[in-house]
Formats: sequence, structure tokens, C-alpha cells
Amino acid sequence: MSPEETPSSNSASNFIRELIDADNVSGRFDGRVHTRFPPEPNGYLHIGHAKSICLNFGLAKKYGGQCNLRFDDTNPAKEDVEYVDSIQEDVRWLGFHWDNLFYASDYFETIYQYAVTLIERGLAYVDSSSTEEIRRLRGSLTEPGTPGPYRNRTVAENLDLFHRMRGGEFPDGAHVLRAKIDLAHKNVNMRDPLLYRIRHAEHHRTGNTWCIYPLYDFTHGYSDSLERITHSICTLEFENHRPLYDWLIEVLDLYHPQQIEFARLNLTHMMMSKRKLLELVETQSVSGWDDPRMPTIAGIRRRGYTPEAMRAFCDEIGVTKFNGLTEIVVLENAVRSDLNKRSNRVMAVINPIKVVIDNYPEDLVEELEAVNNPEDESAGTRLVPFSKELYIERDDFMEVPAKQFFRMSPGREVRLRWGYLVTCQSVVKDPVTGDVTELHCTYDPLTRGGNPPDGRKVKSTIHWVSAKHAVSAEVRLYDHLFSITNVAEIPEGEDWRTYLNPRSLVVVPAAKLERSLTTAQPGDRCQFERIGYFCVDKDSTAEKLVFNRTVTLKDDWAKIQKKQGT
Ligand code: ATP
Ligand code: MG
Repeated sequence: MSPEETPSSNSASNFIRELIDADNVSGRFDGRVHTRFPPEPNGYLHIGHAKSICLNFGLAKKYGGQCNLRFDDTNPAKEDVEYVDSIQEDVRWLGFHWDNLFYASDYFETIYQYAVTLIERGLAYVDSSSTEEIRRLRGSLTEPGTPGPYRNRTVAENLDLFHRMRGGEFPDGAHVLRAKIDLAHKNVNMRDPLLYRIRHAEHHRTGNTWCIYPLYDFTHGYSDSLERITHSICTLEFENHRPLYDWLIEVLDLYHPQQIEFARLNLTHMMMSKRKLLELVETQSVSGWDDPRMPTIAGIRRRGYTPEAMRAFCDEIGVTKFNGLTEIVVLENAVRSDLNKRSNRVMAVINPIKVVIDNYPEDLVEELEAVNNPEDESAGTRLVPFSKELYIERDDFMEVPAKQFFRMSPGREVRLRWGYLVTCQSVVKDPVTGDVTELHCTYDPLTRGGNPPDGRKVKSTIHWVSAKHAVSAEVRLYDHLFSITNVAEIPEGEDWRTYLNPRSLVVVPAAKLERSLTTAQPGDRCQFERIGYFCVDKDSTAEKLVFNRTVTLKDDWAKIQKKQGT
């Protein structure tokens, strides 16, 4: 699959809006717009769900309509209140408010009565065949299905069996309720689809009231209808379920919403399936649902992504009818562009090497003024301490500078951000390994603030932290969770976890941060100058700060593309 062409704005390309506009013109729903976001509470929401949330809540907002949050909780075995709670938190975090909160399980009694009506009208029957038999008799894409031995049960017999199914007389799998439509239908979903199955399982809301549960297709349209949804937006794989959606509603002459399908979001390097994400959690391949490498809303929130960036991203990628693959860099750029506006800049050294300024007074500490955010004047300035011993990034020094390397090297003058011009005079090496362990510099006292009075030029500015004022912190650097670009291309049956990126988390135990971060609190965000955007992780304690790298500063991918001349 080739990367999706991403439209710069969805304003023009949102075909769903065109459909709604047309309905508003024709007066089909009396000008109402009422959408819903219907997650199954069987896991934490991911970025794909965020797209659906932004779309459904966004449309309701745009048209002055309503949007419901509805839990599609028809599968008791896999569902849990933990998920119900997390989903609500995630929707709120994204900045949306539901007009109504519903559960499909609220409709179990009504839906049961619908099933009874279908039986009474000869449109549903109890099938006692095994699962395999039902599948075999259903035919294939090329072969029509054939009626099984239970298809012509009388209404009385069906009613009796269905009633007893509800009463708990039968074990799981003994019978199912099926719609009686057309076993030769060219759409396999219309070949007497299953409506109810027996499941002796406790439901997180209805407890043990029920031991039969309606299937998704049977429940979904009725839930939409009961809530008087106007536009029922779902992903493309439900396109060939739409005839069944329509049939079930029409046959009972109920209020009829319009189902509309759009392409689900797939991102490079990301696994977008609750079931598989659950496997990652259960096998401890990640630290939990909110591991900052996870594509879950909980994960990206902890990583430092903002709801504003998520909404901008969803708006930018737009809505299409074609499944594609969106480059993760599109998401990362949305995050960069939002964080650029709101993040205060600070200096932090991830991989420190000590610098001693030989001609700087032993005990002097100067407080230098530093601008917090060049994008936002109101963020003001702060004071950063400068002293004789500093840390700089090891990578900002090369003993024998390569071509195009303009940072610190012996004899070359560089600017220390907000500070002085300094020149490396000598290095100290480890006698055994030969590694450089310390740099000795001199500074020019006339260059405070970084501007030499004689206007001489230096080619680079590097960041630094005063050694005796530095705060040590753990810094967690994240990379893609999967090294494979398109996780959907992992062959069926292969252990997809072997495609996990072994370097998706690199922990730096003792980075050196500037003094102003001493009081940083979990959730605080900032930009480490020249490195990236970071936020304080919830694992931080009074003794030890922990930072997550939200996203690097530069878009490496764009750089690579430029190099390749694309
Ligand atoms: P998963 O396979 O990850 O469990 P799902 O579709 O089964 O996803 P639901 O809880 O049923 O999860 O989804 C709730 C809503 O979110 C549905 O309307 C669904 O179409 C939508 N949705 C799920 N995944 C995506 C995605 N990748 N892109 C856009 N919408 C999505
Ligand atoms: Mg689903």
C-alpha cells in the first residue's frame, strides 16, 4: 500500500458534509443532525478512534446538532468498566462533550421484543445446528447457501425455544436465533444472519439478567434508531453490512437513520486494533495501556501530545472513501506545530560532557536572562545560572571536526546559548580508553549575552547547563513501537510481536537539566532546546524527575525525503 495522499484541509473533501447538506436541503431529517460515537468497551481507545470522535462530535458541533456517546456493550466476555471509564476520560480529553450517554445494553429488553416480533412474522428462527454446520450451509462468495434442517420450524416452536433460551435452559452454543432472509443472497451478510447467541457470562452492567446476547449487527441499527440518530457514521468494512442494517429497520417499520461509511485511519508504524493492543499489554511488551509508545489516547496523552494537536491532525487528514496509510510524520508535525506555540524553551543536556572554563572566576555565578518562548512574548524570560563548570552535549564536540561540523572543537569559538563565546583549548582523556572526558575552554568576558562587541561571527550556538545547578533527571526517548512501516502487511499467522522495534524506548538515567526545572510537575511540557519536546511523566517523584520525549524537534523523515529529491 502506498502512503495516503493527505489533503491539506478536509474542508473541501469531507464528503460526509456534502451528504448532510443534501439531507438538510431535502428536509429528510427535518434539518436535524444527530450523530453518535459507539465504542465497544473492550479496550482503550486509539488514534483511529480519535478520528471517529473528531468526526462525529465535530459534525454535530458544526451543524448545531447533538452527538451521543454509546457503549456498544453486547459482548459481555470481553468488556469491562475499566474500559468504560477510560473511554469517557479520553473523549473528554479530546475536548468533546456528549449530549447523551447510552449503553446498547439499555436496549436489551426492547431488542428482545423486536426479535420476538420478527419470529412472529416468520422472519426469524431458532437454529440448533453447530457453528461449523451453519458456516458450511451458508455457502461462499461463489456458492449460494442451502437451508438447514431447522429453517422451517413453526412460529410457535421458535417462540418457545427463544423464550427458553432466554430462560437459561440451554448451554452456550446450543441454539442461535437467525433472521430468515435469503440463503442465496449475493451478499453473504444477508444469508440468514445470526441475531442472538447464548452466552452464560456476567455482563458489566446487566449482571446475570441475560444469558442470551444480541449480535452487533442486530443491535447497532436498532440502537441508532431508538436514539433517533440521523447519520450513523462507521468505517468502510461495514459497507456490506448496510443492506442488513436497512433491512432490520425497514422490516419493523422503525425510524431509519442513514449509515455512512468512511475509510479507517491507518498510520505507519502503528498497530490500530484494540485486540492486538490488549495482547501487547497482557504480554507485557509495553508497560500498560498508557505506555507512551502505545497509539492509545491514554498513551499519547502521557507522552505529551495535546488534544489541540490531535484535533488539528484529524482535520488535516480529512475523510475519504479509500483505505490508505497515513505517514506518522503527519501526526508528529501536527504535534510539533502545536507544541511550538505553547512550549517554554529550556536547556537540558541528554548526554553530558563536562566543560571547565579555565579563565572564569572560581565562585562566580551569573544569572543570565533567557527568553522562554520566542513564539509567545507573554511567556516572558527567566534567569539561568552560569558558572565555571558546565555540561554540554557530548555530540556537540568533535576532537577532529568532520566537514560541515561547526560546533565545539579545539581552537574553535562557539556561542553558549544566552551566555558567552567560548573556545576549547584542551581536552582531558581517560588514560585507559582514550575517550575524551572533560573539555577545557576559555571565555571572552566581553561577549555576555552572546553578542561580541566587535561583531565577529561564530558559526554555531550550543546549549549548556551549569554543573553545580543542574538537576539530574531520567529521560525516556521513544521511537516507533513497530519497526515495520505497515503493520497490516505482517503476514497472517506470523507472530507480529517480532516486528516490535527493540529500540522503541531508550532510557537516559541522568540527563542534566537547567535549574528552572527543579519544580516541574507531572504533565508539564517544555522544549529542550535543539532536542525536542518533552513532558514530565507521572512516574516522577520528589526525588527523581522523569521526562518523556514527546517528539523530536526536527522532522527527520522530511530531511530524508529532501535528500532523495522527492
Ligand atoms: P478495534 O478493531 O481497534 O477494536 P473497532 O472498530 O472494533 O476497533 P469500536 O469500539 O467498535 O472499535 O469502534 C468505535 C468507533 O470507532 C466505530 O465507529 C469505528 O468505526 C471507529 N473506529 C475504530 N477504529 C477506527 C480507525 N482506525 N479509524 C477510524 N475510525 C475507527
Ligand atoms: Mg468493533
